Amino acid sequence: MNKDLDTALVWFRRDLRADDQAALYHALRHARRVWCAFIFDTELLAGLPRQDRRVEFIRDSLIGLDAQLRALGASHGTEHSGLIVRHGHGADEIVRLARQLHVQAVYLNHDDDPAALARDARVRGALAQDGIALHASKDHLVFERNEVLSGAGTPYSVFTPYFNAWLKKLDDYYLSAYPVARHAASLAPVPDDLRQPVPSLEALGFETTNLHQLKLPTGPAGGQALLEEFLAERIDRYDATRDFPAVKGPSYLGTHLRFGTVSVRQLAREAWRRTQAGSSGARVWLSELAWRDFFQQILFHHPRIVEHAYRPEFDHVKWEKGKHADALFAAWCEGRTGYPLVDAAMLQLAQSGYQHGRLRMVTASFLVKDLGLDYRRGERWFALKLNDYELASNNGNWQWAAGTGCDPQPWFRIFNPVSQSKKFDPQGRFIRRYLPQLAKLPDDLIHAPWLAKPVDLEAAGIELGVDYPLPIVDHEEARQKTLARFEVVKEAKAAKAAARAAKKALAAGVD
Ligand SMILES: Cc1cc2nc3c(=O)[nH]c(=O)nc-3n(C[C@H](O)[C@H](O)[C@H](O)COP(=O)(O)OP(=O)(O)OC[C@H]3O[C@@H](n4cnc5c(N)ncnc54)[C@H](O)[C@@H]3O)c2cc1C
Repeated sequence: MNKDLDTALVWFRRDLRADDQAALYHALRHARRVWCAFIFDTELLAGLPRQDRRVEFIRDSLIGLDAQLRALGASHGTEHSGLIVRHGHGADEIVRLARQLHVQAVYLNHDDDPAALARDARVRGALAQDGIALHASKDHLVFERNEVLSGAGTPYSVFTPYFNAWLKKLDDYYLSAYPVARHAASLAPVPDDLRQPVPSLEALGFETTNLHQLKLPTGPAGGQALLEEFLAERIDRYDATRDFPAVKGPSYLGTHLRFGTVSVRQLAREAWRRTQAGSSGARVWLSELAWRDFFQQILFHHPRIVEHAYRPEFDHVKWEKGKHADALFAAWCEGRTGYPLVDAAMLQLAQSGYQHGRLRMVTASFLVKDLGLDYRRGERWFALKLNDYELASNNGNWQWAAGTGCDPQPWFRIFNPVSQSKKFDPQGRFIRRYLPQLAKLPDDLIHAPWLAKPVDLEAAGIELGVDYPLPIVDHEEARQKTLARFEVVKEAKAAKAAARAAKKALAAGVD
């Protein structure tokens, strides 16, 4: 194919792989010489704690990406075709680099988080001043933005019809991989003055975490290893196992999806193939990938949800505030609520940056409906701690749990943390893993130790309030308080309906 450009630069951000990568493919297809860059963005890094598993994950993954790019270049006889890595203000650095390399175009993949959209718009403007084009592609979702709309041409706000339309649209075109390797002859050697190894964590101002003690392999190779294991061992039983935190059921691919070290098209292709062959596990797993798309398009169409409830009437809810609320929040964060499943889940998050999907629902519900705290506090805590943190999925799911979102769990449906524990961790295997002090309690008592007789507690070697906290709230009392707290929603809804009726009457000229 005749190339229409001489030079181009690919800006990697949340797409840290060289295979099936949309921006890289388009750049290689259109330009004779292509460079690849990643920028450790000081603006983003500044807000993070100095020990952050995600920074370490990215840093390690860049080494894998650099190796992939070198190997691709080498397969076409090009030496030193690796990744250019910079550390600075993201938007400024990429423009500087584009100028320094005298490229005609910059290629990148969409990032639809509102702050990223604003940044990319600034970059586009700055590049345009130098006559450099910016080309952006979809890469990290199966369907994005306006690709799945209702018959009326509007975005969906309920998942089931969205998923039906999503499935209907799914075909080989959307699932096929970008054949990057076919065009890799365009990868250019990195100029000597830009050739530097990926900076160390220390050079970036960060410290080593326990990432390598976790079973979370990094980089594109790590993503493939996890995927292969999941496909070979678990996907077909995903529907039956996904709710049980003591069981190795899910894929653990969230962090790889977040940073694009795996291609979502590859995942969806594998799940779709198995779905068509009759695997119910694969179908449910495919629907999880669609949830991810769903929440991302919700955020794209309603960026106000970053700060506000999706349903405006829920902005009237008065959450607990003050010292006592702060103490409840600290107990939740630190796994000291006295509810073993909630505490074990919060310790899992603190120790690994992962929390099992079912437990995210339990801990989120507990924060909002048992502690009466603003869901945004929990959302921010997860944003700080989750390795797979995604603004759209985190916000969407928190609002789902709080009952404030699109297609939410109804606000009056309140999870009972003890029933959830009995149902999804019946033998307390997960609880025992994170709360060894409760290990000797029998299965039927481990879910609510405060109900155990003194003799049972003594036999298990537990003094409540010393070895393990007493519950910080009474679930039944909390439930009643929550139902009362949310009454305001009904009032706000009724007031809105009355205002609408009055407006209609006025328009019709009725007194
Ligand atoms: C309160 C709360 C907060 C959450 N925050 C996040 C978050 O910040 N980032 C995130 O990726 N997921 C989030 N989830 C969704 C879900 O819990 C995780 O994606 C999943 O548990 C990650 O584990 P896994 O990679 O083994 O996923 P699997 O169960 O193997 O699922 C595969 C992939 O599908 C996607 N997925 C699964 N469930 C959902 C869902 N409900 N919504 C959106 N995508 C989903 C994820 O990308 C996930 O990696 C949250 C859920 C809740 C209830």
